[in-house]
Order: sequence, then C-alpha cells, then structure tokens
Amino acid sequence: MGLFSKDIKTMDDLFVHTLQDIYYAEKKIAKALPTMIEKANDPQLKADFKHHLGETENHILRVEEVFHMHGVKPKAVNCPAIDGIIDEAEEVAGEVADKQVLDAALIAAAQAVEHYEMTRYGTLIAWAKLLGRPDCAGVLAKNLTEEKNADTKLTKLAESRVNLHAAE
Ligand code: ZN
Ligand code: FE
Ligand code: FE
Repeated sequence: MGLFSKDIKTMDDLFVHTLQDIYYAEKKIAKALPTMIEKANDPQLKADFKHHLGETENHILRVEEVFHMHGVKPKAVNCPAIDGIIDEAEEVAGEVADKQVLDAALIAAAQAVEHYEMTRYGTLIAWAKLLGRPDCAGVLAKNLTEEKNADTKLTKLAESRVNLHAAE
C-alpha cells in the first residue's frame, strides 16, 4: 500500500499506514543499532546505544500492541525515509577514519533517526486522539518520550565530550 495509492481513504487508513511505517522503521533501527554499538568508540556512547537498542525492542512491542488495540494485524510497509537515513549513516561512517570523528558522525546519524521517529510518533499521537483513541495515544506517547530522552542524551554527550575530542 503506497502512500499515494487509493487504498488510503480515511484518517483511520492513514493512521494505520503511518503505524505500519513506524513499525518498519523501528525494526530497521533495531537491525542497524548493533553495528553502531560496535563502531562507537566512546564507552558512554556505546552504553547509550545499547540502552536504546533495548528500548527500541520495546518500541516494536508497543507498536504491535497499538495494532492489536486498533483491531488490525501488525504489518510493516517500506519506509524509504528511514532507509535513506540509515544508508547515509553507513556511508558516512565508512568514510570517517578518525575514531573520535567517527563518534561525532555516529551521534549525528543517530539523532537524525531519533528526529524521524519523533515526527512519526507526534503525528500518530495527534491522529489517535482525533480518532477518539486516547488509549492508543498513551501507548505511543511512551515511545515518543523515550525517543526524546535518547535524543537529549546524545546532545549532552556530543556537547560535553565527543565533539570536543573530535575537534582536537
Ligand atoms: Zn523507537
Ligand atoms: Fe516513512
Ligand atoms: Fe529511537
């Protein structure tokens, strides 16, 4: 079901489509994080990525929970946006020779991912409320909070240490 195909007729269809999009994205992120953990040089960055991998596995479960609450089977649709963000991250990471500069690049890539997720969850929460499903909105809000916290942690780590080491 493409975004511009005629399969999406109602806000409800659009909500489900976007849920399928973030479902795909979360799974893709869970697959990409182990490589990022491996590549990270800073021990705190490694630990933060590991922690977020655990959270991401939970995000997948919560999205599945929302599918069930909404009465539809969990299904993923391709998300070219997250594919592009992750392709770009791998491309850049492959071109950085210096370990400290690589950490700065990994943080920047991870923050692009978090921001993508934040826009999706923000939209899904608004639409769930619109559709009279504050219960679904509540579950999605738990994921949004963790994405925001992950992003904030990365900003703090970059600004307090990683960027400074990278610039040395
Ligand atoms: Zn997530
Ligand atoms: Fe998408
Ligand atoms: Fe995330």
